[in-house]
Amino acid sequence: MDALERELRQHRLWTLKPEFARFRVYDELLENEFRAPAEQAVRMARAVRGMVSFAAASSPFYTALFKRLALTAGDIEEPGDLARLPTLTKHDLLESASELLVPRLPPGEKLHKATKSSGTTGRPVAVMHTVNSTVMFGLLRQRTARWHELDPMQSRIDVRPRFDIFRRPDGSTIADGEYTSLPQWHYLGLHFHTGPEYGINVSTPMERQVEILQRLRPAYATSFPGVFEEWLLANSGRKPVDSLQAIIGIGAQLTPSLRARLEASYGTPVHMSYGLNEIGKVATRCKAGRYHVNTEQCLVQIVRDDGSPCAPGEVGRVLVTGLNNAAMPLIRYDTGDLAEAVDGPCPCGRTLPSFGDIAGRYRSYAGLPAGSRERVRAVRVAIEAYPPDGLTFLRRYQLHQDLQDRYMLRLRTVSPVPDAFRRHVLKAWEPVLGSPPSPLAIVEVDEIAAAPSGKLIDFLSDFHTDWSLALRPTAQAPVPAGT
Ligand SMILES: [Zn+2]
Repeated sequence: MDALERELRQHRLWTLKPEFARFRVYDELLENEFRAPAEQAVRMARAVRGMVSFAAASSPFYTALFKRLALTAGDIEEPGDLARLPTLTKHDLLESASELLVPRLPPGEKLHKATKSSGTTGRPVAVMHTVNSTVMFGLLRQRTARWHELDPMQSRIDVRPRFDIFRRPDGSTIADGEYTSLPQWHYLGLHFHTGPEYGINVSTPMERQVEILQRLRPAYATSFPGVFEEWLLANSGRKPVDSLQAIIGIGAQLTPSLRARLEASYGTPVHMSYGLNEIGKVATRCKAGRYHVNTEQCLVQIVRDDGSPCAPGEVGRVLVTGLNNAAMPLIRYDTGDLAEAVDGPCPCGRTLPSFGDIAGRYRSYAGLPAGSRERVRAVRVAIEAYPPDGLTFLRRYQLHQDLQDRYMLRLRTVSPVPDAFRRHVLKAWEPVLGSPPSPLAIVEVDEIAAAPSGKLIDFLSDFHTDWSLALRPTAQAPVPAGT
């Protein structure tokens, strides 16, 4: 069976409700995934030209930028020409939000709402979206679910920060410890026949999350990859509920070692998609391990620090250009993420442009002493590779770096830390100790707070003062756990 046929078989699991039976847009999304590469390139160039000429004419920020650079929109004919424009940083977005906003929308476009994301600085970044941009965000959910081979008639659960979980009918958000339930999947249930969907705030204590999972028995779960790891920790290292057939990670980070551990412990695939509130659904990871770009929504370019394109195999910055948000065009937006550039056809058979694994956020290590990334990695890998049966004492962990480049591994535990675990972590530390040495202390704490966004932070550095102020654990004086 060829790739297209396989995809059509998945697509047929999705039955439109009678009132949408003539809706063709989901079929078009599928057709777009298999167009000849040359046609993909032509369509992308046309979309880029359209967005650039619109932005240059309508967004005060881009009108001024083109003038300053003595460029016209006609100088940008294809994606490669975008390198003539500077990247747009999160800082630019914060400082120039009002200039980026298009004062008068073209006919047929309507303002919808602003999305906010916290970014790494903790200052919220707000991006205004049109109705069209928001609708595309929703439509692409079907592509993502189809690629992950989900059966829409099964149940799913979403575990996210409170304000990202769908509201009760009266508009209120749920409290920690509660869950919401909808008779159909959020958004996709409007158009398709689906099973039920549930939601939990990610800040709900993990033991309670496991209880809720065991009561609701969902087939699919969506959350940050770190949450899937904590469910294991909260359930003596075992899969929290045997009903789970697939887990779907959101956000950027899933290390190969955590993927391996989750797949082994859950006995299910771990799927990933990559989205940004500033843009929408950017890309979905296929079974062959590539992230294919949702070209209906954006263009992705992987570049070096100087802005030039990366060669295949090279890891560089992920720049995204939005293609359908007329309210606030973002061109060469620097996501703060790193990914590998790839070339050539993907074994999965889809022809949408793609990039390789996301290698983490470079901002997390910018300005940190040499060796920081390797040390954090050593600890993560050591914990992820530890036998699950041996981790029953642990509920959450966080590595902390102080301004003297000393490290503290904080453990929130329910029973004493076994000596074998300490030895295992300290042994993993030896090769990254460095010179002068960066010591590692292992301590037990009462609580480890999540970030204001609800994300679980497993590494905290005092070199990032904004993070450390916001995230100081509630236990100010950690109690050393033995010697
Ligand atoms: Zn692929």
